[in-house]
Amino acid sequence: MKLRKTLGDGVSRLLQRRSQRWQTESQFRNLSQWDLSANDKGHIEVEGVDVVELIEQYGSPLFVCNYGRLAKDALQIKNALSQMAPGGKVLYSYKTNCIPAILEQIHDLGIGAEVVSPYELWLANELGVAGNMIVYNGVSKTEESIRRAIAMELLAINIDSLEEIDRIYSLARQLKQKTRVGVRIGFETETQFGLDIQSDEIMEACDLIAALSDYLDFHCLHFNTVTNTRNANIHKLCAVKAVEFMHLVKMRHDISISYLDIGGGFGVPTVKTLSKLEYGAYRMFGCPPRPPVLERFQPIESWLSEVIGVIERECYRRGLETPKIIIEPGRYVTSRSQFLLTRVQSIKGKKDGTPFVITESGRYSSAFPCGFEYHEIFVANRADEFLARAYHLVGRVCSAGDWIAQNRLLPELQPGDIIAIMDSGAYFSSYSSNFSFPRPAVVMVSDGKSRILRREESFEHLTAMDIFA
Ligand SMILES: *Cc1c(COP(=O)(O)O)cnc(C)c1O
Repeated sequence: MKLRKTLGDGVSRLLQRRSQRWQTESQFRNLSQWDLSANDKGHIEVEGVDVVELIEQYGSPLFVCNYGRLAKDALQIKNALSQMAPGGKVLYSYKTNCIPAILEQIHDLGIGAEVVSPYELWLANELGVAGNMIVYNGVSKTEESIRRAIAMELLAINIDSLEEIDRIYSLARQLKQKTRVGVRIGFETETQFGLDIQSDEIMEACDLIAALSDYLDFHCLHFNTVTNTRNANIHKLCAVKAVEFMHLVKMRHDISISYLDIGGGFGVPTVKTLSKLEYGAYRMFGCPPRPPVLERFQPIESWLSEVIGVIERECYRRGLETPKIIIEPGRYVTSRSQFLLTRVQSIKGKKDGTPFVITESGRYSSAFPCGFEYHEIFVANRADEFLARAYHLVGRVCSAGDWIAQNRLLPELQPGDIIAIMDSGAYFSSYSSNFSFPRPAVVMVSDGKSRILRREESFEHLTAMDIFA
């Protein structure tokens, strides 16, 4: 027993030392990666605005969106696709960051909507997105939402299970509206999404759609298999199989599918999703993984050109017309343009361990992805100070699971300091919860000015749906 503990402690110390070296050497401890800088007070500045003033004005915690960076990332992927695949469409994945005012900005840049729930579909309609710029995915489509989708004449409703086909068909018939549908291909056996490419069900689905062609128009094949990948390899493998399947459908039913939707999953260089091993080491020994390495990241232009090249080659080989391409980026569009600010409330020393820093944010309230991703962290009011010691950054919910980072090297901290957690633009606000505390406000900064996009929730908001005796 004692030996095992000594061994465990030894391994832990070794891993900690290695992790601290990586953290010190991280290429991402450089604010320019996010188009930010430090001003002469040592505070982080975003588009000419001092973030300490943002916290004073709007409170803590606070999501900050940098409009310049958002437009840059959104236009980069949009321009890359339009060069590589004329007629292609970029549809932003709503679930990644579903703040209406941010979605409006994204749509203003000519990007459509990829929705996975009745709420998201309703929201896209409210925001005035044209039907032919919306794809409706998801495992659970209500009858009401299918009606809405049919009426909006979407680019495609992507079918996720056999049962959906009859449901969509009978509603389309009722509404006398021929409806564009797609089929989501499931490539991996360990997830619940799509129709398994290796099963008979998927061809059964295609047969059914072909048989119901008076009201269903087989318009799209879809897949979405990964998130935050560093290169095009997985997309290329899936694309080859998707074209092969498209060929089968062509031979069997003489249907030419117009769109191939290759999903999202395009990674950003500044965030790393932990491998199973890294996750285990983080959970077991509290060892943060190695920060991402820039050289391992494939630029989006060459990424898309490789995948589209494979699709064109495979179609040519089989005598198929090349389909138009849809991409559904989430993380790529919004991750880097946002960061989460939170004040430090107190710091608790431990006799033999890493001190705990109590912040006003946390994994449960607003930083959920920090449990399985590596995010860069700065002290926003002393951004240029050197890393002094390791801390556990935790939240304010009464649960030991409410941490943001373990054993992270940071400058010496004091209560009142402001922590900035980078890349909060993907899956932070959408996962955030009001576990014991209301959810934070969201602001956007542009050209030296800030404006509120979403107010902080109030206590009244938290009880607005409750019926009091
Ligand atoms: C979540 C999701 C996306 C976006 O994924 P990212 O990894 O953020 O690019 C795209 N398509 C579907 C169907 C999704 O569920």
